[in-house]
Amino acid sequence: MDLSALLLSLIPSWTSVAMILLFFTYLAIVGSLLPGKVVPGAVLSDGTRLHYRCNGLLSLIVLVFLLGIGGWMDFISLTAIADRGLELLSTTFVFSVFMTFLLYITGYNSRSQSSSLKPRVTGNFIHDWWFGIQLNPQFMGIDLKFYFVRAGMMGWLLINLSVLANCIQVTDLSRSMILYQIFCVLYILDYFFFEEYMTSTWDIIAERLGFMLVFGDLVWIPFTFSIQGWWLKDNEVELTTAAVVANCLVFLIGYLVFRGANKQKHDFKKNPKAHIWGRPPKIIGGKLLASGYWAIARHSNYLGDLLVALSFSLPCGISSPVPYFYPIYLFVLLIWRERRDEARCAQKYKEVWAEYRYLVPWRIFPYVY
Ligand code: NDP
Repeated sequence: MDLSALLLSLIPSWTSVAMILLFFTYLAIVGSLLPGKVVPGAVLSDGTRLHYRCNGLLSLIVLVFLLGIGGWMDFISLTAIADRGLELLSTTFVFSVFMTFLLYITGYNSRSQSSSLKPRVTGNFIHDWWFGIQLNPQFMGIDLKFYFVRAGMMGWLLINLSVLANCIQVTDLSRSMILYQIFCVLYILDYFFFEEYMTSTWDIIAERLGFMLVFGDLVWIPFTFSIQGWWLKDNEVELTTAAVVANCLVFLIGYLVFRGANKQKHDFKKNPKAHIWGRPPKIIGGKLLASGYWAIARHSNYLGDLLVALSFSLPCGISSPVPYFYPIYLFVLLIWRERRDEARCAQKYKEVWAEYRYLVPWRIFPYVY
């Protein structure tokens, strides 16, 4: 594709605007209507807690079912997303920018003193717009932070499925495409199955909602995490059986560490006496977990996520660095995030964190300081 064709395909059409608006409207409606476990969030600095309705899995299943029926009855094209990838990317980008200006204005004018809505304004416009002003802005009772990350994860799956539909139409499915699709489906379904764990993550409890998060959730997650799928659509890779087995092992080990570590921390926060791997947990200062995966390395959950990310790219072989964009980006992001979280925890837990560091000196990777 030459440059002018590329630029032309980035121009949003009314169809792509309608697709994006329908998607967000659907999510807002089913998010409020469908049943789901209501989970209390972290205790905020003013002692209050938000409550999150975790009905993402049901919302996703209903959506995929409706799209499947629509495609089967020829009401919609299942390849519509794959056909309009760049347009949808630019439309979502414009939507994110628009959203974050709205968030900036409402946050700036908020008079609320609650921890969720109190404006934190530095006066530097770029900083406030980028990092956000309010911790948990809401719209018509919807917690926007939780809603946007849900939209991003679902968008990623929809893109993948549409790319898959496109491949099925034009060619035989390769082992690589099947592996990539299976790993992503499992990871995304897992996210929604354990959606309540999201309520205790750094993004939800500590980050304000500004361009960084909105862009990350709505544009970055769906459009860059799916790069391997787009790449496999246009490139052929022959995987040996040994490569398939090795790839499955990387995914499995990564998944076990990722899910296990996040689950252990989540269970610990709810019930500090909950057994870890069949034994009472080792607790530091009554606050920090130093058992299970959290004794192997600080933030071992990041290690699991990195292995899973690598397993998404390995089906693409090693002929090009392009499909490795996601694991490389995640590596940089998680190293940076671990350092920021480390500083936050050191300030919050003081000598208790120092003791944890002494007991578990490794960061993300065992035996790496
Ligand atoms: P964590 O879920 O690890 O949350 C960090 C917080 O956990 C800390 O601030 C602290 O919070 C608490 N904590 C840390 N160590 C301990 C301990 N030993 N015992 C008890 N509590 C502890 O980090 P994230 O929210 O960054 O990540 C969650 C998941 O999301 C990870 O698996 C990560 O890989 C994934 N992720 C994926 C991304 C992607 O792009 N694919 C991007 C970002 C994250 P407190 O003050 O409450 O104690």
